[in-house]
Amino acid sequence: ARQQQQQRKTLHDLMNSCADYFAHQLYQHPYAQGVQDYILGRGLTEDTVHTFQIGFAPPGWDNLIQHFRSENTNRALLKVGMLTQNDNGRIYDRFRNRLMFPIRDIKGRVIAFGGRVMSADEKPKYLNSPETPIFHKGHELYGLYEARKALKDFDNIIIVEGYMDVVALAQHGVRNAVATLGTATSETHVQRLFKQTSEIVFCFDGDEAGRRAAIRALTNTMSSLKDGLQARFLFLPDGEDPDTLVQKEGHDGFMRRVKQAQSLPDFLYQHLQTQADISRLDGKARLASLAQGWINKVPEGFMKQLLLNQLSNLVGLSIEQIEQQFKPEPPSVP
Ligand code: ATP
Ligand code: MN
Ligand code: MN
Ligand code: MN
Repeated sequence: ARQQQQQRKTLHDLMNSCADYFAHQLYQHPYAQGVQDYILGRGLTEDTVHTFQIGFAPPGWDNLIQHFRSENTNRALLKVGMLTQNDNGRIYDRFRNRLMFPIRDIKGRVIAFGGRVMSADEKPKYLNSPETPIFHKGHELYGLYEARKALKDFDNIIIVEGYMDVVALAQHGVRNAVATLGTATSETHVQRLFKQTSEIVFCFDGDEAGRRAAIRALTNTMSSLKDGLQARFLFLPDGEDPDTLVQKEGHDGFMRRVKQAQSLPDFLYQHLQTQADISRLDGKARLASLAQGWINKVPEGFMKQLLLNQLSNLVGLSIEQIEQQFKPEPPSVP
């Protein structure tokens, strides 16, 4: 166990060194000017770049290998996903010619990177570190370390989709945003955030993917809804994401929208009503049966009672009649 701990410390130190190296390249690499122009074009200030330690992975296949020059380090770099290996066993840099976002754990240690291309024709747009001994996507949230330091000034944590959303919001004083890492919001994410705050505001992009992400987030929040905890959903205008919106509307405009975000119960019943027309009797039956899977996941308490109450109002059955139909064991995720 001690040896394992030692090994993890070495991996964390190595990732920190990589972040330092990329940050340095942003100023001293021959191509740095182009990267600086890209950053400027995205509206980021030097202060923001510094706060989030944004960097530059230069083009080329062996920058990290040449930087560290050690077989032992190469093995460790492979382990943390900074190097990758082809079928012939040749090792090379995973991140090449990308803008680099260090991903930190809650203690501030660099555990992974997200890298963005800087021209529209390159693919994939974002490349993330793979799962490694120190990085588990379903657990980590980009910006949590930074957001935590600001939480005394905010009533909630905002979940957004992307790195640029977190960074742009922070630059405009909305320092309580975090992003999932190219994955759906998991139950683990929600549980972790509710240890830091009593209110989560979900704010995904104003597009089809964003709306689907909101429903996934709703699904994975239900089992965490202990009394006293709240979740709300902020839907952005079509084509906008938090980054573009805060650049347009500024801090105050964005915060106004946060204040008006829809409550979880409202979003839940609105979502269910897209699948059940409650102006018809059979639609009411359908709503009640759809709602069952969702409500059963909520822990016993007032929240669960109030969701039942609302269902009772919508379908015109008493709570007793509804509870009689609901099975005791919680069904699997709908
Ligand atoms: P930008 O503003 O830089 O274009 P974005 O964050 O708005 O980025 P989206 O397309 O909205 O980009 O994607 C949201 C998030 O999903 C990204 O920040 C990234 O974490 C993840 N993502 C997007 N595209 C990919 C990809 N091709 N591979 C892995 N993750 C991706
Ligand atoms: Mn999107
Ligand atoms: Mn986006
Ligand atoms: Mn964006």
